[in-house]
Amino acid sequence: ATEANSGKTYVIGTDITFAPFEFQDANGNFVGIDMDLMAAIAKDQNFKYEIKALGFNAAVQALESNQVDGVIAGMSITDERKKVFDFSEAYYPSGVVMGISANNDTVKSYEDLRGQKVAVKTGTAGYNFAESIASEYGFTIVPFEDSAQMYLDVITGNSIACFEDQPVLAYGVKQNNGLKIVTKKEEGDSYGFAVSKGKNQELLQMFDAGLVNIKASGEYDQILEKYVGDNA
Ligand code: GLN
Repeated sequence: ATEANSGKTYVIGTDITFAPFEFQDANGNFVGIDMDLMAAIAKDQNFKYEIKALGFNAAVQALESNQVDGVIAGMSITDERKKVFDFSEAYYPSGVVMGISANNDTVKSYEDLRGQKVAVKTGTAGYNFAESIASEYGFTIVPFEDSAQMYLDVITGNSIACFEDQPVLAYGVKQNNGLKIVTKKEEGDSYGFAVSKGKNQELLQMFDAGLVNIKASGEYDQILEKYVGDNA
């Protein structure tokens, strides 16, 4: 611990529901890989923080306008975002995948999206990917604020598919969320912890230092094991 971090309570924005990275358990507590990483790193580096589950897009906007000190939300480290945010070292690999209803036996590739609606989540890598291929494959985008609403739109049949981060959708499919994955993952950016560009540099440094320490101690692996291990 350093003197610089004594006293201050950092406000950290996150998503509402993005299992296994952040979600509410049966008692309404926010749990998940991001929540446990933050707790372990804060303990290691001796700083205080509070979590604000704002939703992904709202959290990113709150960070941009300095209403929160940092964001941990399965947030992809993109070149576009690096213009306005500083990121920690990457802590988890990701990439976008297409989800369709578990009962759908007709959609096998992006070609099958022609003339259909595709659900996306505002401000995400999945949204950007869908947008980048929408005119080529002739589908329309329907935006939602959170992953649960996006999935529901596919399950109820309003949208034919959605685009979501692979580790998140794969976790959901394993929990029988009513969706399945039939296409390959698009290569994508890893997740990082973000602060506003040039702001909260001490927090960013503590995050990186703590991440190194919890990787060395085995705590990082234990956290992953808990949520995405063989016995999770
Ligand atoms: N990883 C994606 C992004 O950064 C989605 C994050 C999320 O929905 N919480 O855009």
